[in-house]
Amino acid sequence: MALPGMHRRSVSFNYTALAGWEWPTVEIVGQRPGPHLAVIAGVHVNETSSIEAAICLQKTLDPASMNGRVSIMPVVNLPAIPHRSQYVCPLDDKNINFSFPGKADGSFAEAIAHAILNDWAADADCLVDLHGGDLCENVSHFTVCQDIGDEAFDKRNMEFARCFDAELIVRLDASHLKQAGRSCTGRATRRQNAAFAEAGRIGLIEEDNVLFHYEGVLRLANKLGILAKAPPVRREPQMVSRYLWVPAPVDGFFRYRVKVGDRVAKGTVLAIAENTYGDTIGKIEAPESGFILWTVTHAFAKSGSFVMGLGAP
Ligand SMILES: [Zn+2]
Repeated sequence: MALPGMHRRSVSFNYTALAGWEWPTVEIVGQRPGPHLAVIAGVHVNETSSIEAAICLQKTLDPASMNGRVSIMPVVNLPAIPHRSQYVCPLDDKNINFSFPGKADGSFAEAIAHAILNDWAADADCLVDLHGGDLCENVSHFTVCQDIGDEAFDKRNMEFARCFDAELIVRLDASHLKQAGRSCTGRATRRQNAAFAEAGRIGLIEEDNVLFHYEGVLRLANKLGILAKAPPVRREPQMVSRYLWVPAPVDGFFRYRVKVGDRVAKGTVLAIAENTYGDTIGKIEAPESGFILWTVTHAFAKSGSFVMGLGAP
């Protein structure tokens, strides 16, 4: 194990699709041995409030007052930076966010997902993945918690999900483990704990969204025993168990009738679609009662593309 202190490291992985790439990372090693917390951000490079939180953690975590260690990789999706790619890695057009647990011999997105779980964060007691607010998204403050159906494991994951001052916690049941998914789902297939946080909007660095991520990680480090103290949680989150993706019913210019974080009843009109004459050509109604997790912010949407996330009980 490295000596106590702050260590900057370029990390590379021995997989064909990742050849030639080096990830800037930091390892902050405390004075005494203890747990390991791994933090990633920048799976989506425009979600800058979450990336800023990962940068602030490097500047403010003090090895002298820590047990164990915190590893930080502020940007996972390096190939997306020059293109400001939304959602995907431009090398394979795949969304790293839904590529876990990944594949060693897969394309870039699959290989980096595999490398994070099996190499970089393999021994972490918790992996936290920070997200929220790609260029055309407004995202509420929420966390995703992956269950496996084991009481002790699920309870621990929920404790980590509650470390963020979330409006909502989306609890995914064990059926999600069967297909590729988020890092928290990939970790759960290995029976390893994880937290997944969303807050941010339209590519902006905004203080409340940065703080949501930053303070959440501090509380997580406190929960693990790495830090002696952390800011208190200020609200009780709502619990939902289904994450519904709401598609646009037509090609149109959409006027949204709800805001992120709103509670809606089944059948509530969420958005009206118009053509460019201003004629109404369609509407989106809530398929279930629930909470608005996120909305697309750009008015134009293509039929079938997802324009909203709804958390339903
Ligand atoms: Zn994201």
